[in-house]
Amino acid sequence: MVNLLDLDAARLAAFFASQGEKPFRARQVLRWMHRFGQADFDAMTDIARSLREKLKELAVVGPPTVVSDRLSGDGTRKFLFDVGGGNAVEAVFIPEDDRGTLCISTQAGCALDCSFCSTGKQGFNRNLTVAEIIGQLWQARHALGAYQPAANSAERAVSNVVLMGMGEPLANLDNTVLALRLMLDDNAYGLSRRRVTVSTSGLVPAMDRLRDECPVALAVSLHAPNDRLRDELVPINRKYPLRELMPACLRYLEKAPRDFVTFEYVMLDTVNDSEAHARELLALTEDVPCKFNLIPFNPFPGSPYRRSPAPRIRRFAELLMAAGVVTTTRKTRGDDIDAACGQLAGQVLDRTQRTTRRSFVLHQNGHEVCG
Ligand code: SAH
Ligand code: SF4
Repeated sequence: MVNLLDLDAARLAAFFASQGEKPFRARQVLRWMHRFGQADFDAMTDIARSLREKLKELAVVGPPTVVSDRLSGDGTRKFLFDVGGGNAVEAVFIPEDDRGTLCISTQAGCALDCSFCSTGKQGFNRNLTVAEIIGQLWQARHALGAYQPAANSAERAVSNVVLMGMGEPLANLDNTVLALRLMLDDNAYGLSRRRVTVSTSGLVPAMDRLRDECPVALAVSLHAPNDRLRDELVPINRKYPLRELMPACLRYLEKAPRDFVTFEYVMLDTVNDSEAHARELLALTEDVPCKFNLIPFNPFPGSPYRRSPAPRIRRFAELLMAAGVVTTTRKTRGDDIDAACGQLAGQVLDRTQRTTRRSFVLHQNGHEVCG
């Protein structure tokens, strides 16, 4: 059985061609699945009965199962998906006045082991398939009523997607690119490139590939202004140090849909939040058109860090803004349902034994990164 949610438009057309079917049939089915949220071939009424019967034998429309769906008092909504084998991943919907942002996951766990990240501490389980990545959007749209007729009210619509849930999207680049193409496809979700953001810890070769294969808005998890500190916080820095990461950001901007990179910077008390760090950060990023998004650290059991006090975060932001760099500080939302940055936890088995806990944490929800 082929899961048709694993296929972008080009692959779906190839699949239909292999069955002797015309390309426009593939487009019709693509629209039924993604634009109208249909999983039942019999309901695809403009497809010939014989083709529907053939599809029923060969294929399924199989999104991941929603195992929990919780609504916060502030409207934030958290979805937990079973992806089999004891793995679960999460997505968070954050409604705001002018947009609705869905934060989705790309891996079960993460291999990169950033020192302040709960997902990293759980270790890596596996890459999500295209169906599991795009299926988070498909399921969220169903739950939000976005597939209902006349459903265009702002609180139902997913206008923006951020790949800032569990995992490193660029370590699962092939599947991420296919899922991104579906998000952008007018016969599927029709989102503009500017409203889809990939967040990366800085996998330099994959940043170049993303730029060439499917450029969307880019957020880079910087978190430190020098290699010594970044080696400690974001270990992938030892492989791709700042002298390689900064030029990679500039190369990305040559084809990016936005003319700046967003640098994410987690605020860790006394670790990376001094005025000297802010000045060093400005010097480091001087040549890169950028914005900063400061993320107050969300502690998790066993984490060695504390969140920077609010006045220090404000001072840090002021120094960056005084130098002319747009700087936002991420709000904590959905904390009454454990949906704030660093609070999401699913029931999954930690196979790597890096920790003894049996939960995953989706560290943040990214709602101020794009727009
Ligand atoms: N792997 C990618 C995308 C997912 S992480 C990346 O690292 O960019 C999304 C953002 O949440 C990153 O900027 C990450 O550094 C941040 N983050 C991770 N753990 C956090 C925590 N405990 N508190 C606040 N932000 C955290
Ligand atoms: Fe992986 Fe991102 Fe967490 Fe680092 S911050 S461990 S790259 S998910």
